[in-house]
Amino acid sequence: RPVLGIETSCDETGVALLRWEPEAPGHGLLSHALYTQVKLHADYGGVVPELASRDHVRKLLPLVREALKEAGLTPADVGGVAYTAGPGLVGALLVGAAMGRAMAWALGVPAIGVHHMEGHLLAPLLEEDPPQPPFVALLVSGGHSMLVEVQAIGHYRILGDTLDDAAGEAFDKTAKLMGLPYPGGPALAALASQGRAGAFRFSRPMTDRPGLDFSFSGLKTQVLLAWQQSDQSEQTRADIARAFEEAIVETLLIKCRRALAETGAKRLVIAGGVGANRRLREDLAAAGVKDGFKTYFPRLQFCTDNGAMIALAGAIRLAHGQYQGESVQVFPRWDLQTLPPAA
Ligand code: ATP
Ligand code: MG
Ligand code: FE
Repeated sequence: RPVLGIETSCDETGVALLRWEPEAPGHGLLSHALYTQVKLHADYGGVVPELASRDHVRKLLPLVREALKEAGLTPADVGGVAYTAGPGLVGALLVGAAMGRAMAWALGVPAIGVHHMEGHLLAPLLEEDPPQPPFVALLVSGGHSMLVEVQAIGHYRILGDTLDDAAGEAFDKTAKLMGLPYPGGPALAALASQGRAGAFRFSRPMTDRPGLDFSFSGLKTQVLLAWQQSDQSEQTRADIARAFEEAIVETLLIKCRRALAETGAKRLVIAGGVGANRRLREDLAAAGVKDGFKTYFPRLQFCTDNGAMIALAGAIRLAHGQYQGESVQVFPRWDLQTLPPAA
């Protein structure tokens, strides 16, 4: 029976209905609905947690109704509920968890709290030709930059992590200091496509030593100095954006290659909001063709936060008999490696 997925960890309210189909998980996606709070937070230049929680309260139930309608289902058809239980903003998480848990209780079906990053990691399974473990996953989002060895679903080993800013955060902060409007990441990427090759060059942080950790905060400073010392024309801004994007993408590529060599994996999954970046997708796919590894990406709309990936991750665990007790619990900080195996 279909699983209702609920995502409210940050500034996106996402809902989806998915029937678990192990051979082709994407075919089981019945509907999905998303509401983004971007406009709400724009004046503040960042997500305001209390405003986020309140807006989830307003939007979640209407979105559940919309997703049910689109799938041609009624609440009585729902066989289980999956909600994001962490990591994320505590108040925002509590809205989804309380609503999800309450619906499950009222319907007499099991509910499961999903790890948001497991949701991102499994999102490529919603596409045709889903990746089979073992694989390496590059998780690049607003709050995380991680390389993860996936031996099986639910069996995760973090190979590398960021020491400071996440990749998406670096995009957003860099965009802000060059005067781009909130949210800056996608705007910076769009601008980069107008930039000229070789006009600027920034470093590839931490690639000159062994290891798989990342550090992106220094790039911000390099960009700031270059921008302040420049003529600040539109073309210069695009040139700097391009050089910044190239630095991030090449750094990620170098570390992905290292992670694949270290683990011997032949498959690379890319997920999280920065996975929507066109240069990253093209360069990693090209490297895969050259080196002999296969790349897997979610469709663009499932790179950033959404309900479908939460429905999927939850459906897998529910199918294996995992579910939560009746108390509403969230985990604003939650180590991916502590998850139980999904089978
Ligand atoms: P987390 O998943 O770590 O909790 P989050 O949920 O806020 O963080 P996502 O929704 O996965 O993050 O992704 C949002 C991030 O992706 C933002 O930082 C945004 O700038 C970045 N992003 C989105 N599109 C692009 C793009 N085309 N190029 C670069 N960055 C992008
Ligand atoms: Mg977001
Ligand atoms: Fe996310």
